[in-house]
Amino acid sequence: MTTTHNLGFPRIGKKRQLKFLLERYWSGEIEQAQLEEEGQQIRQENWQCQVDTGLDLISVNDFSWYDQVLDMSALLGVIPERFGQTGADIDIDTYFRMARGEAPTGQSVAACEMTKWFDTNYHYIVPEFSQGQEFRIAYNKIFEEIESALDAGYRVKPVLIGPLTYLWLGKTKGHNFNKLSLLEDLIPVYEEILKRISNRNVEWIQIDEPVLALDLPDEWKQAFRVCYDRFSKTNLKILLASYFSPLIDNLPLALSLPVDGIHIDLISNTAQLDGILSQWPDDKVLSLGIIDGRNIWSADLDRVLSLLEPVHEQLGEQLWLAPSCSLLHCPIDVNLETCIDAELKSWFAFAVQKLDEISVLRRGLVQGRRVISRSLRESMASQTTRKQSKRNCNQSLRQRLSKVDNTMLERQSSFAERIVSQQENLNLPLYPTTTIGSFPQTRQIRQLRKQYKNGGITKSHYETQIRKEIKETIRKQEELGLDVLVHGEAERNDMVEYFGEQLSGFAFTESGWVQSYGSRCVKPPIIYGDVSRDKAMTVEWSKYAQSLTDKPVKGMLTGPVTILQWSFVRDDQPRAITCKQIALALRDEVSDLEKAGIKIIQIDEPALREGLPLKKIEWQYYLGWAVDAFKLTSSGVDDGTQIHTHMCYAEFNDIIEAIANLDADVITIETSRSNMELLDAFHEYNYPNQIGPGVYDIHSPRVIETPEMIRLIQKAQESIAAEQLWVNPDCGLKTRGWPEVESCLTNMVQAAIALRKEAQTSFAA
Ligand code: GLN
Ligand code: ZN
Repeated sequence: MTTTHNLGFPRIGKKRQLKFLLERYWSGEIEQAQLEEEGQQIRQENWQCQVDTGLDLISVNDFSWYDQVLDMSALLGVIPERFGQTGADIDIDTYFRMARGEAPTGQSVAACEMTKWFDTNYHYIVPEFSQGQEFRIAYNKIFEEIESALDAGYRVKPVLIGPLTYLWLGKTKGHNFNKLSLLEDLIPVYEEILKRISNRNVEWIQIDEPVLALDLPDEWKQAFRVCYDRFSKTNLKILLASYFSPLIDNLPLALSLPVDGIHIDLISNTAQLDGILSQWPDDKVLSLGIIDGRNIWSADLDRVLSLLEPVHEQLGEQLWLAPSCSLLHCPIDVNLETCIDAELKSWFAFAVQKLDEISVLRRGLVQGRRVISRSLRESMASQTTRKQSKRNCNQSLRQRLSKVDNTMLERQSSFAERIVSQQENLNLPLYPTTTIGSFPQTRQIRQLRKQYKNGGITKSHYETQIRKEIKETIRKQEELGLDVLVHGEAERNDMVEYFGEQLSGFAFTESGWVQSYGSRCVKPPIIYGDVSRDKAMTVEWSKYAQSLTDKPVKGMLTGPVTILQWSFVRDDQPRAITCKQIALALRDEVSDLEKAGIKIIQIDEPALREGLPLKKIEWQYYLGWAVDAFKLTSSGVDDGTQIHTHMCYAEFNDIIEAIANLDADVITIETSRSNMELLDAFHEYNYPNQIGPGVYDIHSPRVIETPEMIRLIQKAQESIAAEQLWVNPDCGLKTRGWPEVESCLTNMVQAAIALRKEAQTSFAA
């Protein structure tokens, strides 16, 4: 019979138990034994929940205390020297120290870097490879989990990140060397792991190699052959999994490997199916990812079944069914939602519902459509209501959108001309100082927002309190001597949700949490319909802030691409169109801010890079519409109005040209941890507009002293002219405490003053 399986299940628990458990452990409230015990319960629940949907094979080792890549580093003994754990098995606190720098026991150490997992908003802990890196099994979690799942009677399929993906995701430290040179020493450790697993009652292992979906250099392709030839000697059957992008170019490579099955993400591109089927060999399982593992829309079962029927005809039991990728990126259960109306709810499928869909599809394939006629009818009904629903479509908006032309994407004059009017308008000193937008979100502020949301306090009481916060924040910034002020974002719970709640076309869940990293979860909004703006969203707050000071106050907006990226987006129209709708709404907001006398408007786009497709061939198309969306948002203003943007925590070198095309007057970016390395790209490109490279690492409570900041700016000056430079932190300050923020900003302002003095002296000389 056709096997059904899952590449991974959300590990956080239906009520985010893992988050609260971790936080209790980190704060010292509970001991390790209790952590282990409750973690085991969460795993059991997750397994049972999957079995209840009728799934055949249960993934094991998809659970993690923090992150699956960190788990691999622990398993393979890739524990950087500074954690002081040579030889021994890793203990849980060392594991947490690698992730967070600190743990209930032991000395604090600099944590490992964190970055985005492919094109998702999930963050992984970056493996650090030193020259002559040694590998050994140093973490028994996978073996213990297999044991306990087998004891509980499940059919178990362990999952492991493959060696090539693991190497690809890591960074060399100290000397720069070819990571692939480590493969030879890595393979035997994998072989040992496979051998140990094969001694248990396990038939299949899933090895994830999502790098197969990238444009791989030849050397890496070659390495795949070497590696999997060696693995084929094990008794385990290997299911090689790739996802997030079609295989296409690497299909021949994947097919040439001596593995027993291959998982392909069909959602990323259904057109690849014909090519796959025409080449499929007799002896390999084809696992088709036919349910979208990264989005929340329920599937059109009739359509999917029609696609699968001929495949089933051809392959029979060799066909397996699964979601496209791990369900890690999806909320757990739509039935936990009590506030979303029934119609909307019928359009959604979260992790559990997706596995239900897979079970239904299998029955439909094996026993025929008649057996699942009820499910087919229900699915059809939800698809139809969705297609025909009036709430999705806003005719007047569409008409307006059709009139958007290229003139709306360009500022009136070139940057060189604009900056002259802006300077007249703003009168800023050399090295102007500013912040990225948010100030510390104290418990009091969060409490206030919560009370207002729950109806505990009146609107006017709430607004009075927020005004007080703004007033205080402006006063502090004046005292600190900053040049361009912000209102502090106290009214914002989240930079996307805040806007989504005021735009039409968005829905919000109560329990739709998705892990971002470790104990951090996000609740992405769902964009189900056309996006439009009824009234101004931020103007009153900005206007109030500006009324309190003679210094310019920046208006603060989240950009269209970031709102898109950090939401679950409708799949019934191209993302580019949804993004354009958001951009048009934001353009109106920009214009209202300008009319209200706001002279600087910042449009944050921290997720611009994250949306970059995995395949280079698709970059241009994406960057084209993403840049246009930003420009549609930002270009309606007068020359004298200064547009800022902000980006952080991503690799910008690849997209520097697109960044320049945004034509923002000023970009602030995060650079302090990388010692301004990021600026090289701006330098090489001869980036013409102004830049504020971060000089204050906001992820650390450490107070950075003035000389260190001066040194960073001087370093920046090696690449960027002084007249182009701004002085600012890496990112928003909402997660920090006031005392450290005050110290750091005092030092930052001092650094700018010192540099101005120096510039004056050298000018005089
Ligand atoms: N303006 C936002 C803030 O200051 C930007 C946050 C971000 O880049 N993620 O919090
Ligand atoms: Zn940022």
